[in-house]
Amino acid sequence: MNEKIAPRKVEKLLAVKGMNDILPPDSARWEALEERVRHLMRRYAFENVRTPIVEPTALFVRGLGEVTDIVEKEMYSFDDRLNGEALTLRPENTAGVVRAAIEHTLLYNGAKRLYYMGPMFRHERPQRGRYRQFHQIGAEALGFSGGEVDAELILMAHALWQELGLAEVELQLNSLGQPEERKLHRAALIAHFEAHHEVLDEEAKRRLHLNPLRLLDSKNPAMQPVIEAAPRLMDFLGEASKRHLQSVTDVLDANGVAYTINPRLVRGMDYYNLTVFEFVTTKLGSQGTICAGGRYDYLFEQVGGKPTPAVGWAIGMERVLELLKEQGTSDAAPALDAYAIISDAAFLPVAMVCLQALRKAGTSVMMHAGGPEGMASMKSQFKRADASGARYALVFGPDEMALGQVTLKALRDASIAQQTLALPQAAQWGKSLQSNA
Ligand code: ATP
Ligand code: MG
Repeated sequence: MNEKIAPRKVEKLLAVKGMNDILPPDSARWEALEERVRHLMRRYAFENVRTPIVEPTALFVRGLGEVTDIVEKEMYSFDDRLNGEALTLRPENTAGVVRAAIEHTLLYNGAKRLYYMGPMFRHERPQRGRYRQFHQIGAEALGFSGGEVDAELILMAHALWQELGLAEVELQLNSLGQPEERKLHRAALIAHFEAHHEVLDEEAKRRLHLNPLRLLDSKNPAMQPVIEAAPRLMDFLGEASKRHLQSVTDVLDANGVAYTINPRLVRGMDYYNLTVFEFVTTKLGSQGTICAGGRYDYLFEQVGGKPTPAVGWAIGMERVLELLKEQGTSDAAPALDAYAIISDAAFLPVAMVCLQALRKAGTSVMMHAGGPEGMASMKSQFKRADASGARYALVFGPDEMALGQVTLKALRDASIAQQTLALPQAAQWGKSLQSNA
């Protein structure tokens, strides 16, 4: 190396603020949660959908509503460089799923229960439980009008908390009624807030006549007393809306699922009507909502489809995982079954045939890998095997190889005797390991 040439310093590139790398060992907790969710969805007969991360901006403007936090200030929007089309990184995925259902006439032979998992993007101030790229699990029941499906969705989320061992999650429930009821309430809301004009912040003043319901969703502490005193939508509900709410709570009561009716609960998007709900914990500070959803019977029309009743929820995966960590009940990564110790690079081809057979039999195996210098000493390979957390070391040493054998040494359990197997028997051993697990 020519020492006279100063090394050129290349600036380190970092991830975008508020967007996280999910790395081992943490990624194993993500995978475990995803596996649980897939299993859950199968049992409730929800099918998987995968829609694009980029959608036309108009989908969210029309679907979520122009005067919403997301559309006014949180979307990552850009013009396609080639054709100028207005595009947005999805801030949520209900609108995308509805768009796909309309586009592919997915409901032609009846209602559908669908779910997704994936990243969403919102330009918010990053803090614990609030990121710019975050992940949601979403469930959407499309084409169902009865409250029993609202209840089924709530039962499904509740079952997930139980299976995860999440404690202290509270269910809050409300009804946003129907558009005619909202209209009456809206007039009362405007009158109320106009009478308290002096405590409204700039955003609230601007939204008052555009979308007064949004004021109820404000996080401004100074406005909380006047929000608290605002007319309640609940008092404007007609018989049909009340019956719908009753049909939901009847099922929850029968199933022993506790809830609180929170007449102040409104959601951040305009598409909701009738049932809305949130699962909230006090353990994550102000980012305590881990799941939120409701009915959205008018969204299909809003984005150009036929009127179709629907209901859904979305879970914030980061928040659920943080809550699990807080409680110390996280799913751990499953232990590695075996670490292969191979004394000489010349044995690699034969040893690797054996490892393939083991993996085919379901055994997880990490192989010691050498390099141009050949394999490390047996001693240092044993150290690595130990550090890997594997239950067994598989020893492919000179004695074993001379006889076409492999030695199995239990690393975590001194009561298991060492044994030597002919190579073709290794797969059978691997299988028995799975059935004992
Ligand atoms: P919040 O009131 O906390 O901003 P929201 O009403 O905007 O939530 P939804 O759009 O209903 O949230 O999204 C459903 C769930 O997704 C939330 O309950 C939360 O768990 C999660 N979530 C929403 N925004 C974020 C974010 N920026 N970072 C992490 N999780 C989020
Ligand atoms: Mg938000």
